[in-house]
Amino acid sequence: MSTLSTADTDASRAVGGDYSVLVLNCGSSSVKFAVYETSELTTSRALSADRLTARIAGQISGLPDKARLDWQPSGEPHLEQPLVGVHDHGGALALLLERLQAHPGVGRLCGVGHRVVHGGALFSAPVRVDAGVLKALADLVPLAPLHQPHNLAGILAVSERAPDLPQLACFDTAFHAGQSPVHTSFALPERVRQQGVRRYGFHGLSYQSVAQRLPAVLGDRADGRVVVAHLGNGASVCGLLARRSVRTSMGMTALDGLIMGSRPGSLDIGVALYALSTLGMNLEALSRMLYHESGLLGLSGISNDVRVLVASDDPRARFALDMFCERAAQEIAATAVALGGLDALIFTAGIGENSDVVRAGIAQRLSLLGLAIDEEANRAGCHALHAAHSRVAVHVMVADEEAVIARTTCEALLNRAVT
Ligand code: ADP
Repeated sequence: MSTLSTADTDASRAVGGDYSVLVLNCGSSSVKFAVYETSELTTSRALSADRLTARIAGQISGLPDKARLDWQPSGEPHLEQPLVGVHDHGGALALLLERLQAHPGVGRLCGVGHRVVHGGALFSAPVRVDAGVLKALADLVPLAPLHQPHNLAGILAVSERAPDLPQLACFDTAFHAGQSPVHTSFALPERVRQQGVRRYGFHGLSYQSVAQRLPAVLGDRADGRVVVAHLGNGASVCGLLARRSVRTSMGMTALDGLIMGSRPGSLDIGVALYALSTLGMNLEALSRMLYHESGLLGLSGISNDVRVLVASDDPRARFALDMFCERAAQEIAATAVALGGLDALIFTAGIGENSDVVRAGIAQRLSLLGLAIDEEANRAGCHALHAAHSRVAVHVMVADEEAVIARTTCEALLNRAVT
C-alpha cells in the first residue's frame, strides 16, 4: 500500500486522525520507536505531513538478554519487564507491532520510517525499501559496523511480520549530500577516490531537525553562518549556510572528528599502521579499540558517560573532559573557517542539551571568535546562552530526528515525494 485508496481516505476523513506512521531507530541493544498520527487530510487526499502529532514514544532496551519495554501507552510511564521470549530485534519488533495494533490510540499503520546510518554514494535522499535497496544497504555495513547491521535488522523484522507495510529508509548521511568536493574529498589518489572513498558525514537527521527549526530560534540569523554541535555518545559538528550542510567533522565512517564516548575521533592514520605492524593487533582488535575502547572511556579508564565523569574527582576524568572540549572547540573553529565566520552556535544531543560543564568548556575556548556565554543561563539550562556582548548567538536545541523521519515517511509514502 503506497497510497491510500479513495475508500480509505473518505473513511479517515469521517473520523479524522485515523492513520499512523511508525518511526524506528534500531541500535545494538535497543529499538527506539515513536508513533505519529496525522491530524487531518488535505484536499488532494493525501495525509498532510505538516500536521503530524507524536502519539506514543518509547523503547525496547536490554536486548538480547534483558529486554524491557518503556513507554507511555496511556499517557503515564509504563514499564514491561521481562519481555518473555524477546531475544533479538525480530522478537522485539513482533511484540511492538502486536502492542501497537492492539492500542486504541494508534490509528491504522500505513508506513514505517527507519533511521539508517549510511546511505553511501547511492542514496542521497530517503528511499522506499525493497530487496535491491536492502542488498545495497547491506554492502555498506563495513562503513558503519556499530549501527548499520541493527538498522537493517529492524527493516527485515518488519518485512517478515508485515510484508505489505511500506518501509522507508531515512539516512544520516543524506543531509550532507550537497557539500562541495573541497569538503568531501580525502587527499588520496584518484583511483581510490573513484571507489567511493570520501567523506559522507553523519547525524544528518539531527542536523536537518535543527535546520528546519532555526528560523524560530535565530530569526534573521537562521540563514547565516551556523555551527551545530551534535554532542552525544557519537559526536560531530556541522556547518550550515542558508541552513544547508557545508562541512561536517565525520568522514567516510563515524570514527572521524570529535572525541566520542568510546571512539577517538581524528587520529593520525599512522597509529593504525603501527598497531597492525608493530603492536601485534589484528584488524579485529584494532577495530574493537577504535569503536569500543577509546574516546572518553579510553582516556578516563572510567566511563564513556559525561555524567559519571563530571561527578568523578579522579584527575583522569577531568583530563578526558578537557580533551573532549578542546577537540570540539577546534572542530567548531575549523568549521567556522569553511563558513567564513560564525553567527550562531547550537548545542544539541545528550551532552549538548544537558551538560553545562561541557558547554562552558567549549565556549571558553572559542572566545577568539567573539563568543561568550552567560554562565548563569548556562548553569540554569536556559535555551539562549549567549552573553549580552557576545558576537555569536549560542542556543541549546533538542534534537528531534523522529519528527524528521515521520514527516519524510508521510511525504514519501503518501504524496510520492520520493521513489
Ligand atoms: P546517542 O544517541 O549517540 O547514544 P545521546 O545523544 O543519547 O547519545 O547522548 C548520550 C550521552 O549524553 C550520555 O552518554 C551522556 O554522556 C550524555 N548525557 C545524557 N544526559 C546527561 C546529563 N544530564 N548530563 C550530562 N551528560 C548527559
